[in-house]
Amino acid sequence: MNLRMKRRRIYEGKAKVLFEGPEPGTLVQYFKDDASAFNNQKKGTITGKGVLNNRISEYLMTRLGEIGVPTHFVKRLNMREQLIRQVEIIPVKVVVHNIVAGSLAKRLGIPEGTLLPRSIIEFYYKKDELNDPMVSDEHITAFGWASPGELEEIMALSLRINDYLSGLFLGVGLKLVDFKLEFGRWWDEHDEMRIVVADEISPDGCRLWDVRTNEKLDKDRFRQDLGRVEEAYQEVARRLGILPEGAAPEAASNVTSIGGKLS
Ligand code: C5P
Repeated sequence: MNLRMKRRRIYEGKAKVLFEGPEPGTLVQYFKDDASAFNNQKKGTITGKGVLNNRISEYLMTRLGEIGVPTHFVKRLNMREQLIRQVEIIPVKVVVHNIVAGSLAKRLGIPEGTLLPRSIIEFYYKKDELNDPMVSDEHITAFGWASPGELEEIMALSLRINDYLSGLFLGVGLKLVDFKLEFGRWWDEHDEMRIVVADEISPDGCRLWDVRTNEKLDKDRFRQDLGRVEEAYQEVARRLGILPEGAAPEAASNVTSIGGKLS
């Protein structure tokens, strides 16, 4: 019998399922292979994506924890599941842009690939039925989705994460073009509230381009039907040095046309 069936399902999203965790205040985050884009208008499956995103998100959240950025991540449990802290999700998606791409390029008519003079932060209200509309800091504080102090903390954390992750990815030959973060409120053992990074950080929510060729190694391969989607996710994991157990290393090293070879 599937062990998953026994646990209480708290929430099912497009790419993940949340189950109640082994202890109060914890949840188990299960990563699916399901993929969606353009507010669920395009749907599909990326074989092995859940396994790779579980590992990639574990790796990135752990690195962030090491530099003092609090996250909801506790530990990886198995190929598709990780133990996380239960947090009160702030209903705002934070997107950080370094290079123009995607909806930013379309909305403002700026060519994809244009380097921004400085990083830009955007906010989107998390509301599926409204297709996550873009909002400003004024909406966030006026409607009480986050207090001014919380928003300040969210922006400071987002820029710090951007600096750190940009360097980390550059070190493995990838440009961090843009990415999405989610945050939550977590109360520590002294009942102090802390803003923590929640959800996941993976090629599902980041744009990653090869530094030399600008080859896309992220969900844009799925969004734009570029092919070799699984290989792109695998290449990101390979470069980070974290191919999951069970994945044949030779299969990954055969992927030569995705991202080329690192010298
Ligand atoms: O769609 P757009 O071009 O605005 O996306 C900007 C960045 O935010 C991309 O890296 C994308 O993967 C991410 N994003 C996301 N989830 C959304 C919207 C955007 O992960 N709902």
